[in-house]
Amino acid sequence: MTGAKMYYENDASLDFLQGKTIAVLGYGSQGHAHALNLKDSGLNVVVAQRPGGDNYRKAIEDGWKPLSVTEAVKQADWVHILLPDEVQKEVWEADIKPNIKNEAILSFSHGFNIRFKQIIPMSDLDVIMVAPKGPGHLVRRQYEEGKGVPCLIAVEQNASGRAKDLALAYAKGIGGTRAGVLETTFTEETETDLFGEQVVLCGGLVELINSGFETLVSAGYQPEIAYFECLHEVKLIVDLIFEGGFSKMNYSISDTAEYGEYVTGKKIINDATRTEMKKVLANIQSGKFADDWLKENKIGRLSFTRSRKEISDRMIEKVGARLRSKMVWIKK
Ligand code: NDP
Ligand code: MG
Repeated sequence: MTGAKMYYENDASLDFLQGKTIAVLGYGSQGHAHALNLKDSGLNVVVAQRPGGDNYRKAIEDGWKPLSVTEAVKQADWVHILLPDEVQKEVWEADIKPNIKNEAILSFSHGFNIRFKQIIPMSDLDVIMVAPKGPGHLVRRQYEEGKGVPCLIAVEQNASGRAKDLALAYAKGIGGTRAGVLETTFTEETETDLFGEQVVLCGGLVELINSGFETLVSAGYQPEIAYFECLHEVKLIVDLIFEGGFSKMNYSISDTAEYGEYVTGKKIINDATRTEMKKVLANIQSGKFADDWLKENKIGRLSFTRSRKEISDRMIEKVGARLRSKMVWIKK
């Protein structure tokens, strides 16, 4: 395997951004990190953040003069949307589309609204993605430490003919080229991101942990022991996999654990599970998942709110909260 082409510091130039005003819309998890990193990279940034909440207070504390979306967009040569995916269409229609400069650059950190045609940009705009592969707070912290979070870039519209250089420059501005930048498409990024979070990272993992926990508890074992086995240890195991793949984990665990992995793993994740994974992917690709999620928002998030409550009422959450409160070092 030769692997995909990676871009690093010397492949990107901030010159493409000199003299441009970049509007970062939203001062949440990603927004604050992009705005501060770009500013510390010597670029000209304005922040749009609505008043009233914690993010507004934080923007003021960090030294910004937060603008409305309309004001920020009017000044900007580059508009980076870091609002929640499910509100972007509305804000685009009301405040961005009527005010964005001709031949500006419109960018995103997730492809959802372009891939599922919620936002259909005018043809004179460059449309690009710069998507850090990590939470916003890490994007900021790593940058401050001289490190970076890897980024994906993509070009959906290349009106200027320089869209890829612009994307690389922005990735450099937020620290991404220190770690490595990889080119993708809006379609690939959106579909793999949704699949990953549903099947493996969030949906799959939460139900795997909880089902293991409940199986032990209903068989009469102490919930605290079930918690340590099925939840707490997940991090220890994932750290080993993260550092050195499955082989490093298998090297570290006992041979008994390794034998158990070989005989049992494929019974838990089996052909029926893989059939479901393919269905999940098909629903993502067809746009059904996106439709469902946008509809759910229109009807006031009834099932979303119910599920959030159902999960937080689970025994594992209560037991976990109690045990974690004694492990003060976890918060560090
Ligand atoms: P957050 O929820 O952390 O922040 C959203 C921001 O948008 C806040 O400043 C919020 O302000 C503002 N906002 C919310 N609703 C409105 C509205 N109706 N009108 C105006 N402003 C509004 O979002 P994230 O940073 O998590 O996500 C932003 C983008 O980044 C998304 O596209 C997401 O997919 C992508 N992304 C996120 C990652 C992450 O680490 N979280 C990782 C990679 C990509 P207020 O505080 O007032 O509500
Ligand atoms: Mg994701």
